[in-house]
Amino acid sequence: MPAINLLSKEISELIAAGEVIERPSSVIKELIENSIDAGATHITVEIKRGGSTFIRVTDDGCGIAFDDVPKAFLRHATSKITSREDLNSILTLGFRGEALASVCAVSKVEIMTKQKDDELGTHYITEGSQEVMHEKTGCPDGTTIIIRDLFYNVPARQKFMKKDTVEGNMVSSIVDKIALSHPEISFRMIRDNKAELSTSGDGNLYSSIFAVYGKNFAADMIEVDYELDGIRVSGYCVKPLYSKANRVFQNFFVNERYIKSQVCASALEEAYKGVIMVGKFPACVLKIGLAPDTVDVNVHPAKVEVRFSDDKPIYNCIYFAVKSALMKAGMIYDFELEKTAFSKSSASESEKEEVYQPQIPVVPEKSEKPPLQNVVSDISKEVFKENKAEQSQQTVDEVSVCNNTKPEKPENLFENNNVRPQNLSAVPAYTAVIKENPPIKPIVHSRIEEPVKNEEKVENFSYINRASLQKTEPAPEKTFKPAEEKKELRYIGEAFKGYIISEIDDKIVIVDKHAAHERIIFERLKKQGYESSQLIMCAEGILLSLDEADALSENRELLEKMGFSLDLTNSPYVTVKALPSIIAHLNPDELIPELAENFRKNKLDPRPEAIDDILHTVACKAAIKMNDKNSSLELEKLVNDVYNDENIRHCPHGRPVMFVITKYELEKQFRRKV
Ligand code: ADP
Ligand code: MG
Repeated sequence: MPAINLLSKEISELIAAGEVIERPSSVIKELIENSIDAGATHITVEIKRGGSTFIRVTDDGCGIAFDDVPKAFLRHATSKITSREDLNSILTLGFRGEALASVCAVSKVEIMTKQKDDELGTHYITEGSQEVMHEKTGCPDGTTIIIRDLFYNVPARQKFMKKDTVEGNMVSSIVDKIALSHPEISFRMIRDNKAELSTSGDGNLYSSIFAVYGKNFAADMIEVDYELDGIRVSGYCVKPLYSKANRVFQNFFVNERYIKSQVCASALEEAYKGVIMVGKFPACVLKIGLAPDTVDVNVHPAKVEVRFSDDKPIYNCIYFAVKSALMKAGMIYDFELEKTAFSKSSASESEKEEVYQPQIPVVPEKSEKPPLQNVVSDISKEVFKENKAEQSQQTVDEVSVCNNTKPEKPENLFENNNVRPQNLSAVPAYTAVIKENPPIKPIVHSRIEEPVKNEEKVENFSYINRASLQKTEPAPEKTFKPAEEKKELRYIGEAFKGYIISEIDDKIVIVDKHAAHERIIFERLKKQGYESSQLIMCAEGILLSLDEADALSENRELLEKMGFSLDLTNSPYVTVKALPSIIAHLNPDELIPELAENFRKNKLDPRPEAIDDILHTVACKAAIKMNDKNSSLELEKLVNDVYNDENIRHCPHGRPVMFVITKYELEKQFRRKV
């Protein structure tokens, strides 16, 4: 082993720089953050060749005093904190005093800066941490910093740089995110002499979203504004129908700082569960405001990750904020007819026009199923009965919460007001069913359980937005308006043996009967568990693979709670003794291997969704199918149940359950309206 040496200042600087400065986008992030901390209202970023040869950031912030400029480039030199206590309540984006030192260790830096009250500014140049120039100069108020030849003295780093376009895209993406986090600052981004982004700096988040992601993206957003236990979540999230193919458009900001956070992403995705297609991801621009001492931003050199003193309230607040916004927006309106460019064969190019074409999901299954009436009618009876009971049981608290609001759609909000977090996806009717007829044990998704544990706190929870409650002035008088009656749809008929057509007010509602029935059963199973099981004669053991039999055995307790009874004494042969009544007619030879396979797949990755997957499987099998013959009475009942349950707008797999054509849209198609 060679002798131990103390590394030279130059080498230790290079090593330390590696932590903060990984690529051009990390330089840009640090420089923009400095400009924001300097109180700038206009920030311009310019890069050439992806930022590898040239980066310039100009701001109109407070500037740096002549004597302080060399100090700013020393490691651990900062004007933002002075004491250990300051670390507990950081409100600036920077505080480590490392960025400029790191940047100047690996590039050639030139800075021009002037404080407002100084007559002259400062011109300062360093190369690889060596001062080359420090003199007074005439220049505008604020700071311009130019970085040339990034990593010119660290060939190893250069090798890891991606193509200029890729690096440039990363820069654009970080500028976008920071621009979103500060709508009150006007950002401009110029890339290879072309202007790419320009935000107005008018303080309006929506205008920033518009500038960053474009008109269509902005139009697909719904507003979020919510407060719970001292945490405020505000911003925008996407309408379910316009969810994205990946998570790139998920933006979270904690106290105006862009962060990456698993907790936030999970809460967001949980809130969208069941309303977006499987494999799609919600987009959002969400600002999370919380006390600075409840978040530690000092856990990552680039400060991109943060640690919350307690994840749970953050998770809950985001979850309820988004869920609440989705409910308030009334998801039925998401089922707009899709716009498709269409040209009539007889029309000339110039006469091309847009027409609406409905997007109807295809449900391929075809099989024998149980009469729908048993399932749906029972549910409907309970629903109807309990709806009434719920209304008469309104407590004074609930009434006063309602009366303090000025919701856009009072009737809907009033209904939602009954929804408790322990029934995250529930509607009042189903909540009531549980109260009266307690399940063996509610089968709840474990991530959904998070908010449930916090029962004391969420006791008075309602989907009415608390932030808007506080804002509402003056408080309306305390009159109690009963929840609206269930709406009755007029059944018109069934198309293609699968789509129920009915009419209400000025709308035609088209429901996919399999998807709708499947979702109704799914919700019921999820909330109630199975209320009864049915013994079945199945003398033959079903042969499973060893892994499948093990997986089944491990989950036996769960299955028994659901109404299964299995004999595994001859494992890997399984004998089925009872099934939940709702699926007792199904062939165990098909059902059991499918469930076992499901458990096996999730064994190494015990996803909480496993239970949902089982419920999906069961609900799908128990539901009526396309091409089934159903009476008009049954279908009418189904469509009414589904329409009146605001929470059911997608099947458990995320496919839409219904869509609506308004009279106005029809009239437009027939050219009665223009
Ligand atoms: P930190 O931001 O963590 O304090 P930096 O190395 O990024 O550390 O910056 C060091 C110091 O230089 C800052 O604390 C600040 O006083 C000053 N500074 C850097 N950039 C600017 C700027 N654009 N405008 C005004 N002051 C700046
Ligand atoms: Mg900084």
